[in-house]
Amino acid sequence: MSDEFEIEVKRFYVPNEFTIECPKCGGDVCVPNGYLSYPTANVVFDYTPYCGSEWKDENGEWTGCDHEWKIKARLNLSFELIEDE
Ligand SMILES: [Zn+2]
Repeated sequence: MSDEFEIEVKRFYVPNEFTIECPKCGGDVCVPNGYLSYPTANVVFDYTPYCGSEWKDENGEWTGCDHEWKIKARLNLSFELIEDE
């Protein structure tokens, strides 16, 4: 495992994401949703997913979940030299 270090990038887009279930409404939430801001690599950190799911209630009015919670995540990053074969 590489040492932790701060990445001085305002919008760091990661190449993969996960779909997790909102604990309040059961809707799908993408993590990370877009990018990480100034992440620290190779260390476990708190990530705050946000659920913006919307649906019509029994009166036909739009209502939203608007829920945040905390999960653990880690951005693994290291530099590697590749020998010519
Ligand atoms: Zn939700």
